[in-house]
Amino acid sequence: MSVIEKMSSAALIELEDKYGAHNYHPLPVVLSRGEGVYVWDVEGKKYYDFLSAYSAVNQGHCHPRIVGAMVEQAQTLTLTSRAFYNDKLGLYEEYLTQYFGFDKVLPMNTGAEAVETALKICRKWAYEVKGIAQSQALIVVCEGNFHGRTTTIISFSNDENARKNFGPYTDGFIRIPYDSIEALEEVLQNHQNIAGFLVEPIQGEAGVYTPADDYMMRAKELCNQHNVLFIADEIQTGIARTGSLLAVCGNCSCEKQCERQATYATPDILILGKALSGGAYPVSAVLANNHIMNVIKPGQHGSTFGGNPVAAAVAMAALDVVSDEQLAQNARALGKLFRTKLNEYIQTSNIATLVRGRGLLNAIVINDTEDSETAWNICMALRDNGLLAKPTHGNIIRFAPPLVMNEEQLLDCVRIITETLKQFER
Ligand SMILES: *Cc1c(COP(=O)(O)O)cnc(C)c1O
Repeated sequence: MSVIEKMSSAALIELEDKYGAHNYHPLPVVLSRGEGVYVWDVEGKKYYDFLSAYSAVNQGHCHPRIVGAMVEQAQTLTLTSRAFYNDKLGLYEEYLTQYFGFDKVLPMNTGAEAVETALKICRKWAYEVKGIAQSQALIVVCEGNFHGRTTTIISFSNDENARKNFGPYTDGFIRIPYDSIEALEEVLQNHQNIAGFLVEPIQGEAGVYTPADDYMMRAKELCNQHNVLFIADEIQTGIARTGSLLAVCGNCSCEKQCERQATYATPDILILGKALSGGAYPVSAVLANNHIMNVIKPGQHGSTFGGNPVAAAVAMAALDVVSDEQLAQNARALGKLFRTKLNEYIQTSNIATLVRGRGLLNAIVINDTEDSETAWNICMALRDNGLLAKPTHGNIIRFAPPLVMNEEQLLDCVRIITETLKQFER
């Protein structure tokens, strides 16, 4: 269509409604531009982005270094497939493995693909290294998990919406309560064939459910004791979001800067996505050391786009930005300020009962039933007041701005949030 005049938000929403599958329920706002912590709708209204595309845009919208790297590479070479070598992939693999402290990486595109990749590596390791009998390997997962949307991944979800009528389901998973070391210990003692434990360091989709400080470390220790791979899905929590490079604070280049060193739990398999590209391009990765990653041989796994030169250039720029702009430190400092300010408000509030999270991955719990419209209505009012956020599970609102925010902007956002909540006090 040739653009004669700019279409209105209402007309664009109508188009999506008519021609797109209804697999999302977006907040009614139509964005056409982004820069740093801000986005603009088609009518020109400016908003703070407090979702950051589910933590993909940690480096801020349209970061010039990331976009610059993308444009330059896109004009040079975009895709070779892995049938041939390209002059960016090796450099990227070296950069990424050194950045996070692993021997090897397997590059993919989306988060769900990276989770699938980790599950396949874990199973293969179970048969070829650990010596589990054919097709008997089990992987332990948690209640309330979110790891993506493929048929295998939704097979071990307990979200009825994500699962129902998509069967038959993939076997080989055991679900235990999240944040329960006892449950993990019990399952590891009672089953001989466990290959791995797949876990989110904070359950983002479930409502920023933040476990005990030592949960990751103790889970990792138990996995070690039972020769079980500790697999961390850091697609949402990783890359500075929670105030350290990784939420598990692994064997990574941020060691000097971390304040939670006591809780270090280096994963055996690390899964990254989302902010690995700063939201510019779909880039995901699975990292592991040689004794695990070497179970994968030519022809056994792959992706046409995985490890393409644009992805490699974009991811290197995106991670350069994270370290050069000290985004982990900023997320940690601003996160503390955010929770302190919101806690002050919550003391006197009937509508918000709790704020939780780490770094700049936070959520507030709204004092209403899970099926109420209150959290949605608050998000609509936040939108009207210039801030975009979205409910996660019914009565929980996630707050995850880009990590390039400054203190003045954060305090402005706290003002918008508290003034909006005031309209809903009963
Ligand atoms: C977003 C997300 C995924 C899935 O990533 P996609 O790119 O949407 O496939 C997996 N795990 C976690 C923890 C996520 O937040």
